[in-house]
Amino acid sequence: MMDTLVSLCKRRGFIFQSSEIYGGLNSCWDYGPLGVELKNNIKRFWWRSMTQLRDDIVGLDAAILMHPAVWVASGHVEQFTDPLVDCRSCGTRVRGDEAAEGKCPRCGSREITAPRQFNLMFKTFMGPVEEEGAIVYLRPETAQGIYVNFLNVLTPSRRKVPFGIAQIGKAFRNEISPGNFIFRTREFEQMEMQFFVRPGTDGEWLERWKAERLAWYAELGLRPERLRLHRHPNKELAHYAKDAYDIEYEFPFGWKELEGIHNRTDYDLSRHGRHAGKDLSYFDGETGERYIPFIIETSAGVDRTLLTCLVDAYREEEVRGEKRVVLRLHPRIAPMKAGVFPLVKRDGLPELARRVEHLLRPRMTVFYDESGSIGRRYRRQDEAGTPFGVTVDSQTLADGTVTVRDRDTMAQERVKIDDLPALLERRLSGS
Ligand code: ATP
Repeated sequence: MMDTLVSLCKRRGFIFQSSEIYGGLNSCWDYGPLGVELKNNIKRFWWRSMTQLRDDIVGLDAAILMHPAVWVASGHVEQFTDPLVDCRSCGTRVRGDEAAEGKCPRCGSREITAPRQFNLMFKTFMGPVEEEGAIVYLRPETAQGIYVNFLNVLTPSRRKVPFGIAQIGKAFRNEISPGNFIFRTREFEQMEMQFFVRPGTDGEWLERWKAERLAWYAELGLRPERLRLHRHPNKELAHYAKDAYDIEYEFPFGWKELEGIHNRTDYDLSRHGRHAGKDLSYFDGETGERYIPFIIETSAGVDRTLLTCLVDAYREEEVRGEKRVVLRLHPRIAPMKAGVFPLVKRDGLPELARRVEHLLRPRMTVFYDESGSIGRRYRRQDEAGTPFGVTVDSQTLADGTVTVRDRDTMAQERVKIDDLPALLERRLSGS
């Protein structure tokens, strides 16, 4: 199934391997015309639900490069490591947990080295000198940009605790074993929200965010039976966490994390306060209390969510003895909302279909196609996940109606051109 999906993504212009003409760059991927639309739609849907629809979260877009002291304070320089083991027989290099029972996962040899701690942060140099003092890191998470801007955001946005800061941006991790297509890559994008709360209310807010986030994935169109929450056992808690959950999805390669929801306590603001020598406490004007807020974090991957949407939407169906491949993406995130087709390439139908296309363009993404049989054109859009097919035929000339075909039911109905934009918009918004 994963191979089929990877090839569909390449064939239809969702995702390509980075620098493919040079043989590709391991674990880096480029998003093509359909992929970038899907990705933007996912990001927009997250951003809208986090910021526009709430009055207690504001946005931020921090730089990827940050002061190197940030990563000392955050604990990343010391602790953001994975154990690395080498197989002495075949030279394979894997993460410690992948060499189960001391065996190489590739050749089965027990000749493996003791684990060494490998830091996952990418290092580079700032300015023209390549020396120790000029080292900066590509951020391995977007969250730190939020913590260090806590006061900058608090004051001008006139927020009161509890409130949150949301951010979408690139993150980089020098993963030892990337893989499963875009599931684990070395360059990826995160959608993170850090919610600042009064100590003592953190448990309650964690519960609220667990429920909110799980509901978000269902709204994204994912099958609820393939989603679950998994609590981190105490011994696996990250150095900053008091309590942590993952939202997991059942991929063809097993249940895997989609998003982390963590109670980070006052770890981050306390550490940055100490290391930067700044007071990052919050004064509550109503109660007269001063405290360092606790943070509930929701941390999701854009690319991983996109992969999940594709995996969840992919169907092979039999229609009148023929196989049809369809991506049942939620219309909200589908890259193209409508295909517009003249039934035949004559009798003025292409010109009329172009008029319909231009009527829809300002309101939604549209794909115009006049080549091949109408059945093939429908199939092409099914594979791209386009929810509606609009066909102009000879009857259109007579009465100004077109047919609207539904991707999932394949049912067709006749609609007046004048009513078409409003009808499609209503269906796209789910009403
Ligand atoms: P793992 O244990 O799988 O390495 P993690 O627990 O370190 O992941 P977090 O630091 O909680 O992951 O990251 C939050 C989210 O960012 C993840 O749920 C995932 O969606 C995304 N993410 C993290 N690492 C990667 C990666 N290498 N490639 C793609 N997405 C990633």
